[in-house]
Amino acid sequence: MDPKRLKVLKAFRRLAPRHRYNVWRLVGLTVSMGILLLVPLSGLARLDLWRGNHLVLFERAPFNLTLAVVIGIFSLIYAATFLINLVAGRMFCGWGCPIGQLHRLTENPATPGLTRVQLRVRRLQAAMFALLLPASVLAWWLDWRILFSGSPAERLAVAAALFSGTGLALAHGRWWSWRFCRQACPIGLYYSFVAPARWFGITFQRPDTCIECNLCDHVCPVDLLPRSLPEPIPSRGGLSIADAPGRNHCLECGDCVRACEWIVRQKTGGIAPLELGFHRPPAQRKESNEFATYSTGA
Ligand code: SF4
Ligand code: SF4
Repeated sequence: MDPKRLKVLKAFRRLAPRHRYNVWRLVGLTVSMGILLLVPLSGLARLDLWRGNHLVLFERAPFNLTLAVVIGIFSLIYAATFLINLVAGRMFCGWGCPIGQLHRLTENPATPGLTRVQLRVRRLQAAMFALLLPASVLAWWLDWRILFSGSPAERLAVAAALFSGTGLALAHGRWWSWRFCRQACPIGLYYSFVAPARWFGITFQRPDTCIECNLCDHVCPVDLLPRSLPEPIPSRGGLSIADAPGRNHCLECGDCVRACEWIVRQKTGGIAPLELGFHRPPAQRKESNEFATYSTGA
């Protein structure tokens, strides 16, 4: 995990714990996790590869019909995220992707300066979310009641799948983390180039209010330079393609805007130069360095 980003997160936690983006992200994740969990658990549509209790609209249904409905639901989810990305690039990555949220939660315990209680709470949050991920995958393929009414061998097999999935998710968040989004996520890569953020995203809108603190660069989870997103960037390794504009890779997560709003308010009381919104004509970057007082190494 990037120590500079962790230091900025620590500062957020102490000095700006509440931000409107926290609420927006919670709404996005509630919708995506709600669909992933509630559709199969409620019986709206779910296969049961173990005992054959396939469900469509809460009623038993043949395998082929159930499979077609499940594929149809995932096609609709895909179409919805594609439409979002058509307008706003990788916005789903920043606001609704459960894997991105896993990365946020697993980096939380690593932020410096936590009390013992805070550390335990954050570890618990990360573990609970990591448990939800394999549960949401299994729920589409198994009747969850097997956990309570199955034979000991069946219950053991499901519990083993759940907990090994949880362990893998935690290990992924701890060691791979945002590098996955930057270099390896095939869906993110696809969205970067099929539907880059043409109309909506991060803009460096008021260069004259920039204090050149570089905080936005430090906090970006995928190592972009938020003030220069229209400019091409070299290879990022993995699956990513070299020399595409930084904007193609941006998750639209808003972390740079949040950092920018916070530091500018602290230092000058002015309006943040970075914005998340519909693009306006590009602005020129300010050359002055007179307010460069923030140091993540302090
Ligand atoms: S440039 Fe800003 S919005 Fe884009 S990924 Fe980086 S921090 Fe998130
Ligand atoms: S003032 Fe905002 S845009 Fe300028 S360097 Fe700092 S965080 Fe980045």
